[in-house]
This record gives sequence, structure tokens and C-alpha cells, in this order.
Amino acid sequence: MATAKTKAACPVCGKPVTKAARPFCSKACADRDLGKWLGGEYRIPTEEQPEVIEGPEREEEERD
Ligand SMILES: [Zn+2]
Repeated sequence: MATAKTKAACPVCGKPVTKAARPFCSKACADRDLGKWLGGEYRIPTEEQPEVIEGPEREEEERD
């Protein structure tokens, strides 16, 4: 058994890390983690960012 790549897990939710959002599984978790840091010490107004809307409502695609 060779030492395989370390399977990193998202420190926020524990899901597998993705390249795009390392060291988190997604930008959402990255933001959450960042929010912990900021929210712990500072109180800044939260800018509510509209979620990216992907066109008209779609039927839920199968995930996983
Ligand atoms: Zn996560």
C-alpha cells in the first residue's frame, strides 16, 4: 500500500475537499469558515449576496 494522497476533509463540514475550494469542499464552507474568524472578533455588517441563479427553476438534478 503506497502512501496515497491525503484525503483532506473540509474542516467545516467534513466533506471531501475540492480543488476549486481547497482547503474546503466548497466556497460556501470557505465563507463559513471565514465568517467564524470575522464573526468571532469583529462585528461587521453582513452583506447579503444574492445567490447565483441559474436560469429558470430546474428540476432537481440528481446529486451524489
Ligand atoms: Zn464543507
